[in-house]
Amino acid sequence: MFPGPLGLSLAGKALEDGTWALETFDIRSFATDKHRSVDDTPAGGGAGMVMRADIAALAIDAGRADAAPGTPTLYLSPRGAPLTQARAHELAEGPGVVLLCGRFEGVDERVLAARGVEEISIGDYVLSGGELAAQVLIDACVRLLPGVAGNEVSLAEESFASGLLEYPHYTRPREWEGRAIPEVLLSGDHEKIAKWRRDQAEAITKARRPDLWERYGKPKS
Ligand code: SAM
Repeated sequence: MFPGPLGLSLAGKALEDGTWALETFDIRSFATDKHRSVDDTPAGGGAGMVMRADIAALAIDAGRADAAPGTPTLYLSPRGAPLTQARAHELAEGPGVVLLCGRFEGVDERVLAARGVEEISIGDYVLSGGELAAQVLIDACVRLLPGVAGNEVSLAEESFASGLLEYPHYTRPREWEGRAIPEVLLSGDHEKIAKWRRDQAEAITKARRPDLWERYGKPKS
């Protein structure tokens, strides 16, 4: 599943030129029995299978072997702390990450405690495996690495950079299906344009994400 979409476009070019690197470990290769099993039935009964602590630990240890000091180990999990833009910045500025992708019902809790693994979620829904979630996390971080997105100004203005959602964008043609580009954007008056964009970002954030507006946008009294 890797690099998958991370091998294409901006992330793919940056992978090719060595701006970032990826090493994948097949958990099955750490199995110790002849069936190469990595999971077993849940203690206490119930549906599904659980990834074994001893096998997951071997995989994590292999992943950590060449990791720089201070590299966090993250388990992609719907129970985790939500991945945010602020966390993506923090990870992009750090030494790297070791990511554990679950399958089945998840992993034996003991390996998370024993290896100091932090759980991180990409949203309030359940995927069948952690691989796509890991790719989302990696993509959010890689595009923040210097030189990858190629336009530092647009990164500074995009959604969440200021805590607000971004203002709307327009391009040619000037009129399309009876809809015109807002006049102010054609005025050449940079002050007016900046004010219009700020007003739009505030209105969109208030309407769509009142939680973000309360936290970051609302003037403090
Ligand atoms: N039984 C688990 C629960 O209810 O929390 C769901 C397990 S899910 C079917 C299998 C794996 O997909 C998880 O171990 C995790 O690695 C990954 N996964 C699923 N949803 C995710 C999400 N929202 N964020 C990050 N990883 C997720």
